[in-house]
Amino acid sequence: QRGIGRLIREGERSFSFEFFPPKDDAGEAQLWQAIRDLEPYHPTFVSVTYGAGGTTRDTTVEITGRIARETSMVPMAHLTCVGHTRAELEAILDAYEGAGVANVLALRGDPREGPRAAWVPTEGGLTYARELVELAAGRFSVGVAAHPGGHPAAESLQRDVEVLREKQAAGAEFAITDMVFRAEDYFSLVERATAVGVDIPILPGIMPILNLGQVKRMAELSGHPVPAEVVARLEQYDGDPAAVRAEGIAMAAELCDALLDGGAPGLHFYTLNRSKATREIFAALRITV
Ligand code: FAD
Repeated sequence: QRGIGRLIREGERSFSFEFFPPKDDAGEAQLWQAIRDLEPYHPTFVSVTYGAGGTTRDTTVEITGRIARETSMVPMAHLTCVGHTRAELEAILDAYEGAGVANVLALRGDPREGPRAAWVPTEGGLTYARELVELAAGRFSVGVAAHPGGHPAAESLQRDVEVLREKQAAGAEFAITDMVFRAEDYFSLVERATAVGVDIPILPGIMPILNLGQVKRMAELSGHPVPAEVVARLEQYDGDPAAVRAEGIAMAAELCDALLDGGAPGLHFYTLNRSKATREIFAALRITV
């Protein structure tokens, strides 16, 4: 199976879709519907997240394995250090390999209280994503997280891109960013990263805002508020959910255009296990199946 690092470097433009392990049968049906709906777009890869502390351990293995076996797509399994010893992490990597998965996104993960809370490593486990990169590199094509506004607990923006450089030195072949809402935030991350010697491709993460309630949740997830001008554009349609949604899709499509025009090597979509919004953005970008 193909390594994503090479696919991004050698391909023209990377498109990828992220899913999460569902909690019940209805969620599972929705996930597979989304996967099947998006397969005709021939994504470079699709990825499946890993729940804190191993809550989705078996499902992440199962879904990525099934994607490898039953679809034409290249899967990537996420893995975090939360709640695991080094030996457990090695066993999970073995399971990914056994399931036919050749790509891993190596992450630290977050404390239960969120990305700003104090991070306490598990005894016998790993402290930083960099160590998980070291554990997986060689066996897998390894990707890592990058943070456009800086990781919320980082000492400084400068230190944060030095961390990215350390993950690259440990063997990471590509990076994917947290949600991007303004192209300039992505490009300033790339500029800071390039200045300290990062030269792996950095894919911007895209999540359209489809309703105003999502704004708060996104801020909690990423540790940064959604930019005020983005919220303002949506709030002008407050009270008209269809218009808010349409504006959210239009803004995401504008953002994707600006990112690709400015030289981003691809786009990574946070799908939330639904295909409709992504298909609408693709239609706006005039990308067809
Ligand atoms: P790290 O690179 O380890 O960095 C964490 C913090 O430590 C940063 O503040 C960094 O500056 C600091 N740091 C790192 N090294 C050092 C050092 N040597 N000295 C001092 N400080 C240091 N979470 C999940 O639970 N499951 C998922 O599936 C998942 N998928 C994700 C996918 C993407 C694309 C992204 C962007 C994030 C994802 N996350 C996921 C969230 C991620 O776990 C959090 O963002 C987490 O807070 C940071 O992870 P990291 O891998 O960037 O950590």
